[in-house]
Amino acid sequence: MAKSAIVLGAGMVGVSTALHLRQRGWDVVLVDRRPPGEGASFGNAGLIQREAVHPHPFPRRLAELTRIARNRGVDAVYHPSALPGLAAPLLRYWWHSAPQRYEAVARAYARLIVTCLDEHMALASEAGSAELLRPIGWMRLFSTEAQMDAARLEAEAAHRDHGVGYRMLDGGALAEAEPHLMVRRAGALHWTDPYSVSDPHALTTSYARLLAAKGGNFVLGNADTLERTGAGWRVRTAEGPIEAAHAVVALGAMAGTVTRRFGYSPPLFGKRGYHRHYRLKGNAVLNRPFIDEVSGFCLVPMRAGIRLTTGAEFARPGAPQTPVQLERAEPIARSLLPLAERVEDRPWLGVRPCTPDMLPVIGRIPSENRLWGAFGHAHQGLTLGPTTGRMLAEMMTETRPFIDPEPYRAGRFN
Ligand SMILES: Cc1cc2nc3c(=O)[nH]c(=O)nc-3n(C[C@H](O)[C@H](O)[C@H](O)COP(=O)(O)OP(=O)(O)OC[C@H]3O[C@@H](n4cnc5c(N)ncnc54)[C@H](O)[C@@H]3O)c2cc1C
Repeated sequence: MAKSAIVLGAGMVGVSTALHLRQRGWDVVLVDRRPPGEGASFGNAGLIQREAVHPHPFPRRLAELTRIARNRGVDAVYHPSALPGLAAPLLRYWWHSAPQRYEAVARAYARLIVTCLDEHMALASEAGSAELLRPIGWMRLFSTEAQMDAARLEAEAAHRDHGVGYRMLDGGALAEAEPHLMVRRAGALHWTDPYSVSDPHALTTSYARLLAAKGGNFVLGNADTLERTGAGWRVRTAEGPIEAAHAVVALGAMAGTVTRRFGYSPPLFGKRGYHRHYRLKGNAVLNRPFIDEVSGFCLVPMRAGIRLTTGAEFARPGAPQTPVQLERAEPIARSLLPLAERVEDRPWLGVRPCTPDMLPVIGRIPSENRLWGAFGHAHQGLTLGPTTGRMLAEMMTETRPFIDPEPYRAGRFN
């Protein structure tokens, strides 16, 4: 019983945590109300972002704030009705994004990010899914030489400080790299290190299958039923009540609903995002993912088609879909690539679980014994699942974690 855990949430973070615990000999039951990998981990842009050493800050320039406030953009939109509920965490997000504070945040973030490729490859190799991790990187496309110059400086710094790989492409080299791109751009920054996952859902389920092969269990159940027992924790599942000494909350954007009942209320908020797939006309191809900086969305070649993923939508939890960003992005995407028909009728919607200081929660929940948190990975939860899983499993098994966990401790929000 002592070396046993219920892991709540079977997204990339929960599956990776369960797997790492199982690899260390613990009895593990992974619980989700849906099969593994069907939350935010299902529909993201599939980038294992080795270049993302700087998390997404809250915009601080007045021009940008004014543009977003108009609510007509593609990259960020909001439901006015959501603003009162979001005001407090967004204000804190803004505060943490001030240059000096942000630098400290980015230093802590980079320590996680630099491990992401190795940690994924270790799991994917064992799971037999390494072919999903395409070592092709992704590109940012720019319209002006001034943007290119700024991007070059940023990339040089990321390379110098964090060993991030990149190359700059001028307009001609970009046209050669992507012969079916229908616009001429000044050029591109190609981040060369990231893996582009051809099917993020398949990656998460491959890790879940590895967990099962190693003797871990997955059961359907509702995390809201988590309760204390004398020595540990109990949750109700489709297979009856399950008990374990430890519980891990890896519920992505929903984590706060469970931890709150046990005295811990992190200021989590969601950034929603949509995707839709398109076929390409004729024999056109897209060789690697890109974001066209003037457009503000991502186009990714995936198994299911060209996946268009949107930026941030701020809405009340559970509010119905309002895919205006997709509607605005689609005609622009059609001017960039020879897109044919849509693959699905309905867009997919997922929620990025965000914290105001842009760092995830990885560690013990301070209000309770043997309750652990692994959530709040915002824009990079697919990237950081295995890193988080390993760190948390090391902490739970009282081994020295391979990354100092201090900046990600849950107690910073008390
Ligand atoms: C459009 C978009 C693009 C993105 N692109 C990228 C990218 O390229 N690279 C990257 O690294 N990240 C990306 N992200 C972010 C990434 O998808 C998330 O950070 C990540 O999936 C979070 O993983 P998770 O395991 O914490 O949460 P989730 O995958 O959401 O898993 C949480 C799980 O908890 C379960 N759950 C919730 N409540 C309950 C309950 N009461 N009982 C039982 N189960 C429950 C859910 O069913 C779900 O399976 C993107 C996100 C979006 C929306």
